[in-house]
Amino acid sequence: MPIVKVPEGRVIELPLEPHRFYEGMEDVGIGPRFGGHIRKGDWYLELGGPRFNYTSFLFAEFVEDYDQLTDGKFTLVGPELNEVPEESSFPFAYYIRVGGPALTIEYFPMVERSMTMGLGWIEGVMVIGARSQVWVRVAKKVVHKMTLKKIAQAARGMIKSLVLTADRIEQKMIIATPEMGGVNVIAPLMEQAKKDWEAYDATRATTVTDEEVDTFYGCTICRLIAPTHVCICAPERAPYCGFLEYTAMKVFAEVDPAGFIFPVEKEEMKDAVRGWYSGVDKAVYEKSSGRTRKVYLNSCIQYPTTN
Ligand code: SF4
Repeated sequence: MPIVKVPEGRVIELPLEPHRFYEGMEDVGIGPRFGGHIRKGDWYLELGGPRFNYTSFLFAEFVEDYDQLTDGKFTLVGPELNEVPEESSFPFAYYIRVGGPALTIEYFPMVERSMTMGLGWIEGVMVIGARSQVWVRVAKKVVHKMTLKKIAQAARGMIKSLVLTADRIEQKMIIATPEMGGVNVIAPLMEQAKKDWEAYDATRATTVTDEEVDTFYGCTICRLIAPTHVCICAPERAPYCGFLEYTAMKVFAEVDPAGFIFPVEKEEMKDAVRGWYSGVDKAVYEKSSGRTRKVYLNSCIQYPTTN
């Protein structure tokens, strides 16, 4: 893979103080109700996705030596939104580097999820997928009030608001225009990112089994769209959506005990083959408002872990 030179880009300073996180964005909606699809004919800018065979990525990096980070620094390599014509489509790379004295790698999944939520909850911005399978669109209807700088600002604000230990956040967005080299610029960066993900995932891989723990975790995030929805996550059983795995769920439940992720005591094992536990049944019954009575951890067809 040839080594490519990425232009330096322009550096933009985002507001640092908490009361200024969303400064200048007062006319842009942010929150779960703004998530959703932007369809053909409705988008102004498209980044990544199938048009470029997903040669694009979203990279959240845990930076242990946080002194090397300049908080609020956003580097944009390539054009701003108002510098491209309608229905422009480019491959891209987006790096969000995060660190802080109290941020450890165990808590980093919270940063990754906050980042995805922060981006996907901006009015008129669609974000599908994560990491190397990402597809972003910005709608025509918001282009008069939207910039890539505001998108970076919202991502930073969301991470800072949800993960209090995320002390410094530095970002870089590369919009790879054909003049810059298009996918030829992004592909080698993505190869490196994949190696970094592999190393990061290896440090966080869990080796415990379902039998070795007393507590599983449940998730009700999708209650935002399906009021009785509840999922169960065990060390050997990540939820089907892939949102978080067991250790990340544990961290979420610890940091935000009143949040969407909650501990589930296994209690009595009723059937080892099916993975049937009395404590799991009780939890899903309560959390689903009585709609789901039973879960078999080891079946994806009969009483599955996602309901
Ligand atoms: S684990 Fe279940 S509730 Fe949580 S985000 Fe995934 S599908 Fe939704």
